Amino acid sequence: MTQQYRTMRLLINCNKSDLKRLQMCNKESAMIWNKCIEANNKLYEENKKLHNRNSFFTLVKDIETEVICSNNKQTVAKRVIDAYKAISKARKAGRVDEKYPYKIKKYFPTEWDYNYLFCDYNKNEISLTVSRFTDANGVARNGKQIRLKFKTSIPQNIKTLKLIYEGERYYACISYLTDVEEKQPSFSNVAAIDLGEIHAITSVSDQQDQLIITGRKIRSIKQFRNKKQAELRSKMDKCTKYSRQWHKYNRAWQYIKSKTRRQLDYHIHKLTRMYTDWAKEKGISLVYCGDVTGIDVGSNKGTNVNQKLSQWEYGLIMELLDYKLRLEGIRFIKVNESYSSQICPSCGFKNKPTNRNYCCSNCEEEYHRDIVGAWNILNMNHKLDFVPSRNTKYLRIS
Ligand SMILES: [Zn+2]
Repeated sequence: MTQQYRTMRLLINCNKSDLKRLQMCNKESAMIWNKCIEANNKLYEENKKLHNRNSFFTLVKDIETEVICSNNKQTVAKRVIDAYKAISKARKAGRVDEKYPYKIKKYFPTEWDYNYLFCDYNKNEISLTVSRFTDANGVARNGKQIRLKFKTSIPQNIKTLKLIYEGERYYACISYLTDVEEKQPSFSNVAAIDLGEIHAITSVSDQQDQLIITGRKIRSIKQFRNKKQAELRSKMDKCTKYSRQWHKYNRAWQYIKSKTRRQLDYHIHKLTRMYTDWAKEKGISLVYCGDVTGIDVGSNKGTNVNQKLSQWEYGLIMELLDYKLRLEGIRFIKVNESYSSQICPSCGFKNKPTNRNYCCSNCEEEYHRDIVGAWNILNMNHKLDFVPSRNTKYLRIS
């Protein structure tokens, strides 16, 4: 038995006054964020230094808040430090146009850790600690907790709760620890995965099994989202900014964003589940996956938002594959995938395929392009003595 972190997102139900206080939480968190950034900028101007954890903690302690408690403030400070660290790392890696945080935030997700939340498992309720206040007699008192109600049961062993506002609703993102039973696979076959835009997952095993799971559904959701958002964006551009009509379009834009996000998450879960079932059925105990993250880092930055999003989807697919396969006792290893789509499985000649079919200019052998990618990834890590066949199993998510 081992323990693993999991996350879940639950829609929050609560009364009107608590809803107001939730909004206030994220407003106050943004205020703390802004003050931390401001303090950092000031300190940097004065003596080229940045605040560390302790100096931030003393700084935020003195900022008066109505709703959020000291723990929430400290978490915001930690997030500021994380943000600076991430940007600094990126800049050191050569992405010099990455900017340190500078925008004034209006809202920022508030986080509570387990010492500051109280769970009622019978009622499916979580109460959040809020700021202390001084009453008329000058006595410090605990503020009335914010009570969140949920329709589904809440997990045991909650570690943190993050308050997210999306599509005009509040959600609790809960991370919790859970016991996982690690299975030992009874087989020892090996497979490799090539991730792609049209064919989401292509896989080849050392038992000559070939699988393609198409990502058409995911593409069509993205296309729908991009089209709708572009339409709304151009309508917004014609209105006066922040006018009533502008806000109306903006709300619609946000709605499309959160709805398609939910759809995409659902389909990505389904896709990775399908693959895991296939791997189990084929007795696979180890999967190599061509790592596609960071392919476009440094080039074409900031110009194409869609590209960024699709890149992120690969990250999510890999993350879900990793954890779903691991639960079945299957190891998941990310490997370098350079040239894997170019080398001919028959003669080893390097071609640059231009369409969906791979046709070798040296030996004139023809293959499916994505199968070639997966075959090469497998061959690089686990020498094969066969070439891809025409026998491929196709699956699609509907
Ligand atoms: Zn060839």
